[in-house]
Amino acid sequence: MKKVGIIGAGPSGLCAAQHCLQEGYDFTIFEQGHELGGTWIYSPEINTHSSIYEGLTANGPMDLNTLEAYPFRDIEEKGRSFIPYEHIFACLLEYGKPLRDHIHFDHKVALIHRLDDAWEIITETSCGKFQKTWRFDAIFICNGHNFKEDVPDYMLKYTGNWIHSRNYRRASDYANQTVAIVGGGLSGMDILSQVVNYAKKIHFIHNQPGKHAKIIPKNVEENARCVDAFEKSIILADGSVLTGIDTVILCNGYKHSFPFFKNGEVELKLDGKIVSPLFQHVAHVNYLDSLFFIGLTSHAFNFLTIEYQINFAMAILSGRANKFPQEVVENWESGRITELKQHGKHPKNFHFLEGSQFDYYHELCRLGNFPYKISLAIERVFYDFIEKRGINFFTYKNFQYKVLNDEDFECKYVP
Ligand SMILES: Cc1cc2nc3c(=O)[nH]c(=O)nc-3n(C[C@H](O)[C@H](O)[C@H](O)COP(=O)(O)OP(=O)(O)OC[C@H]3O[C@@H](n4cnc5c(N)ncnc54)[C@H](O)[C@@H]3O)c2cc1C
Repeated sequence: MKKVGIIGAGPSGLCAAQHCLQEGYDFTIFEQGHELGGTWIYSPEINTHSSIYEGLTANGPMDLNTLEAYPFRDIEEKGRSFIPYEHIFACLLEYGKPLRDHIHFDHKVALIHRLDDAWEIITETSCGKFQKTWRFDAIFICNGHNFKEDVPDYMLKYTGNWIHSRNYRRASDYANQTVAIVGGGLSGMDILSQVVNYAKKIHFIHNQPGKHAKIIPKNVEENARCVDAFEKSIILADGSVLTGIDTVILCNGYKHSFPFFKNGEVELKLDGKIVSPLFQHVAHVNYLDSLFFIGLTSHAFNFLTIEYQINFAMAILSGRANKFPQEVVENWESGRITELKQHGKHPKNFHFLEGSQFDYYHELCRLGNFPYKISLAIERVFYDFIEKRGINFFTYKNFQYKVLNDEDFECKYVP
């Protein structure tokens, strides 16, 4: 029987474990914390693994962004597609119930390295006193990708008050302040939509100032991207200088990080934006049938992606997948970079799926010989909500989706 080690008890680790259960593998999950749920465990403390904040609701319709066996099914009855984080966490607790006996909590994976015919893992407890060595045939890396902040150099020159979005916890902390939100991605937009209800003034600093002119409230000013800082001033790309800011909230995203690989097994290219060398964002090129990375991709229905990636990894592990020619595997990374460039995108978007997610799932199914189960209606919901989010990020979460049949859906606005 195959022995599988899983790092992390967030959605990816739990889903990998569910599949190991179904395959009849002997598996063990290592979780550094004291509860399952990963990112979805809220804590008022800062610098924890999770960056969830008060009042956060999912940034996509979760009745569709679901794993096969996930108990998100009662959402429709509650009349919301964009559910609060507490609900997602409660579902994960339910999903993880049959897996609890396999989870070693307070077991931080400190080292993973390759032996001749197996993987060795060294774990340590939070007090650092107890180390233990384990051996596995295969490893699933499910340690998350939202815990190591990406902080630009200019921010380190700024002597005013600033935080990374990772440590943002509640909007009321910014009551009556002048706040600068740096970054117009998902975190920047979401945090802005909360803080706007409390702050005196917000500078929304991002790459396309003016983009949201039609929808932003009076207390928000869109500004050009930030290029430098000195003392308590921020310098923008158009040469203007912002002062008098009480707090800067840096919504600049994250870097990938695998501190337990200490022997160069993984290379982080482009300052942590590309995990290399991988095939299909999942299988390590040099250990194709024994080292898998789950959940590195983003800007998609993340939970669906996790499920398809794990199906793909399981197909390889169990020998059900097609045999991939070595050159196809080795050239996949450069092919992906070429594809991004052809679409006018920067290689730092390497792990962003965006519009390509459904093609990606099809490819995983083809390579792994397992069925594609997503209906056209669900694909269409994805494009619909992305469009609505593009039009107005203050209101897109008020829409409720209902899939009517394989092709059609309906969507209504719930104020
Ligand atoms: C603010 C925010 C909002 C988000 N909103 C959405 C959303 O609306 N919809 C969506 O689909 N996605 C959202 N995401 C993305 C979210 O991260 C994923 O949905 C999902 O949680 C990823 O699951 P994961 O298991 O890969 O990683 P995580 O949930 O991060 O879990 C990783 C687990 O690994 C453990 N771990 C890490 N290192 C070690 C180690 N060395 N040893 C042992 N254990 C370790 C951690 O403690 C953690 O429990 C959001 C992320 C953030 C930060």
